[in-house]
Amino acid sequence: MEVKLKKKAVKALKKGETLLHSDDLIDGILTNKWIDFVDEKGKFVGKGYLGKQNNGIGWCLSRKQISLDQDFFSQRFAQAKAKRRFLYEQTATTAFRLVNGAGDQLGGMTIDKYGDFAVISWYNPSLHYLQKEIIAAFQAIFPEIKGIYEKLRFQTELPVSHFISGTLAPAPLYIKENNIFYAVYLDEGLMTGIFLDQREVRHYLAQGLAQNKNVLNMFSYTGAFSVAAAVGGAKSTTSVDLANRSREKTKEQFEINQLDLSQQKIHVMDTFAYFDYAKKKNLSFDLIILDPPSFARNKKKVFRVAKNYGELIEESVAILNPKGVIIASTNAANLPAGKFRTIIEAAFKKQNVAYRLFKNYQLPQDFTQDPGFIEGNYLKVYLYQIL
Ligand code: SAH
Repeated sequence: MEVKLKKKAVKALKKGETLLHSDDLIDGILTNKWIDFVDEKGKFVGKGYLGKQNNGIGWCLSRKQISLDQDFFSQRFAQAKAKRRFLYEQTATTAFRLVNGAGDQLGGMTIDKYGDFAVISWYNPSLHYLQKEIIAAFQAIFPEIKGIYEKLRFQTELPVSHFISGTLAPAPLYIKENNIFYAVYLDEGLMTGIFLDQREVRHYLAQGLAQNKNVLNMFSYTGAFSVAAAVGGAKSTTSVDLANRSREKTKEQFEINQLDLSQQKIHVMDTFAYFDYAKKKNLSFDLIILDPPSFARNKKKVFRVAKNYGELIEESVAILNPKGVIIASTNAANLPAGKFRTIIEAAFKKQNVAYRLFKNYQLPQDFTQDPGFIEGNYLKVYLYQIL
């Protein structure tokens, strides 16, 4: 099946872009069929598919005229596996990304390894429709995976999380990351209990950054940063998250690492309410971790990174000890790194503090990148010390 693209889109594909947008098509309807994308004159530009995502409407998977069958997926999976050899050759970390969508020339899906199990995330219904061939290809290349789960990350009436094949994973399943244990649940909604893209930041905390520090972890979710900090010798950790589930999940993470719970505080609370609480109680910290969702709605307030991150920094400065450290992180794909830094640094200036940026992180190597899909490079983590 052929779909005609506008000039602008043809140019973009030729430059290496792979994601298609709704205004790129001259004609063409959403279908599950493989597509030949052609220019206005009908000349072949690329092979791919259409499928409605939260962002975009389809992917070009190859600029060559190839057949997109099980063999195609096997080849892509084999290439993806080869890129992760360095992770397969060690035993300290058992959970990482196996296939990163466009970064592995497979726009529209990601696959994560959690120990002996895999979680496939589908970002549109079209690839999901091809589930059977894709999973057969995956099993051929990754025979060590014992069970597979899937997450549906597109608008659908279906339940978003499923077990699909092999053996069931225990719940919780204990995975290891740089020899720290984390409890994950592969069949609880879209999230599993750990965000694998923060591996290097957790490692840095565990390797010395948190040593002897009183650590405040905002938007703590299951407390993964707190656990890494405690393993790294933090004097105390305080985890703050609005969600009720965070208390028991965070406790569980400390317990499975045999950490002393008496020095670990957990507050089920709004971040901004906690800032007020800390000020009232005269609490202060040596290290504050800020890793909010890019968008969140609370009863009173909508949090948007571009609009509200500065407030987080200002509030943090107010309860930070001299020479304190702030880890400022965001996964907002639409916020360029430079703009994020400007927001952070403007807040420091407003609070009249001198600062030093001493480290930064982006996505780890298993979150492979495609230069034609810059939104894929979403993670920005800046580590500042107040002088
Ligand atoms: N930093 C975590 C991941 C954060 S996920 C990690 O690395 O593991 C985002 C979390 O922010 C969710 O758990 C959500 O419950 C929490 N959250 C959203 N809005 C919040 C708010 N206003 N105050 C506190 N927590 C909030």
